[in-house]
Amino acid sequence: MTEETKTNFIHDIIEADLASGKRTEIITRFPPEPNGYLHIGHAKAICLDFGTADKYNGKCHLRFDDTNPAAEDEEYVQSIQNDINWLGFDWGENRYWASNYFEQMHDYAVELIKKGKAYVCQLPQEEFKDYRGIPTEPGKEPPGRENSIEENRTLFEQMKNGEFEDGACVLRARIDMASPNLHLRDPALYRIKRATHHNTGDQWCIYPMYDFAHCIEDSIEGVTHSMCTLEFEVHRPLYDWILDELDIFHPQQIEFSRLNLTYTVMSKRKLLELVNEGLVKGWDDPRMPTLGGMRRRGFTAAAIRTFCGILGATKVESISEIELFESLVRDDLNETSLRAMAVLDPIKVILENYPADLVEEFELPNHPKKEEMGKRTVPFSRELFIERNDYIDVPPNNKFKGFFVGREVRLRGAYLATCTAVEKDSEGHVIAISCTYDPESKGGSAPDGRKVKGTIHWVSAQHAIDAKIRNYDRLFTVENPLADKEADFKDLINPKALQVTTAKLESSLAGAKPGDRYQFERVGYFCADLDHTANSPTFNRTLPLRAPKK
Ligand code: ATP
Ligand code: MG
Repeated sequence: MTEETKTNFIHDIIEADLASGKRTEIITRFPPEPNGYLHIGHAKAICLDFGTADKYNGKCHLRFDDTNPAAEDEEYVQSIQNDINWLGFDWGENRYWASNYFEQMHDYAVELIKKGKAYVCQLPQEEFKDYRGIPTEPGKEPPGRENSIEENRTLFEQMKNGEFEDGACVLRARIDMASPNLHLRDPALYRIKRATHHNTGDQWCIYPMYDFAHCIEDSIEGVTHSMCTLEFEVHRPLYDWILDELDIFHPQQIEFSRLNLTYTVMSKRKLLELVNEGLVKGWDDPRMPTLGGMRRRGFTAAAIRTFCGILGATKVESISEIELFESLVRDDLNETSLRAMAVLDPIKVILENYPADLVEEFELPNHPKKEEMGKRTVPFSRELFIERNDYIDVPPNNKFKGFFVGREVRLRGAYLATCTAVEKDSEGHVIAISCTYDPESKGGSAPDGRKVKGTIHWVSAQHAIDAKIRNYDRLFTVENPLADKEADFKDLINPKALQVTTAKLESSLAGAKPGDRYQFERVGYFCADLDHTANSPTFNRTLPLRAPKK
């Protein structure tokens, strides 16, 4: 399942732990907060968490980090599970909820109070920063720091029983108000928040802070290697402190750099802005870097896994180039997608010497190199559509593959035809071209072996399916939409990221189902959209056939 990684220092650590006997079984976890849809950045974490567990025959837990009652929703839980499965990973029986540990977390908090290691602080919220201070100077001792253990037990009990207003006080760790690491300056462990939690309802009005909760969740589950992104490196000393003071199982946290991609943004909050402001059509809009959007666009799970495998895990902050990702998608689609003919900008071809009432059927391979992918039947008749740019009055050079008057061209898999005339409207736009076909050239080769340079795709006019095509491009016009901190990234949205056109498709595509992927020959990679029906055929352009020249 996992693609071999080129650089992954995490695997080196794990191999050393297995070799030394420090660990005999590897347990990792993927801990999404159910407050949004997963994006390709999460895919990197998923591939590392699940992929590492697979590689060492261990387990990877799916743990919903639902300690914040406000932002979380069942809709997100379902979509997260669906996306992980789609990526090709499975948590088996190991699905957990942070909220199932609330009782235990509360008891641990009481334990810290009893050890004199935590206290209730009634400092108004707006004064927190002032007391905490700056790294180069010690902070100030907050009120409550010298409370007795008994006082703190009573106050915490009162917090829990709802005797204080939201925000009136917090439980804090008593660590060091002078530490150069601000996270160690008596961080908050518990806060008061009256909100109905999706799992525990109104049972609690106090909720653990992320930093207190996360290391305890990992510990309770016996996670051996807890991988997270680099911003948590400075939190690690706090996790170490909590686990050591409680004297409980101590997972090893390992930080790696986040995945960023050019021409997009990766934060759930920013993606939510795009959705809420109607700048995209929802979380699974194919312009979005969400896994739902990418799936709908036609990108494959295999390409995403390969991409994450190539990136591996490092501590270097960088923005990966979307071109690399797109080239991996093309490589995969080239191998796996069915071929079909579709004309995106049609002009008509009339084969003057082809009988008006004749329809022939040609069997064409679904994949040029893979016989096992089978064949399809494509009808052929007197009137066809070809791409507008497969006709030209005067060819620019001898690379041109299409028709001009006098030029013989191969109609893919059918016949050779020679252009005899062109019909234009009053403004000079081509309406149709006339050709004569060679009845001896059935299948596309002449019996006399004469050479025909160009092969073009076509669709029989009377059999063509009219389809709506959504042509997708990059979401932003610049590589890093967040580079200018002063500017609004939403002003940099690419207005051409979605352009809707129509096309003429070969009739075999009548059987397409939403999600089916195709290479429209010579044009690009496409897939039937979620909205696709037989009555309203709708296809997404996943990618053009080749990367545009830079
Ligand atoms: P966002 O920054 O988009 O809001 P998040 O970190 O808040 O995401 P979580 O649900 O907390 O989202 O993330 C679950 C896991 O995915 C975490 O372990 C987090 O570190 C990891 N993760 C999130 N974004 C990325 C990214 N861009 N690259 C790699 N891992 C990521
Ligand atoms: Mg987070």
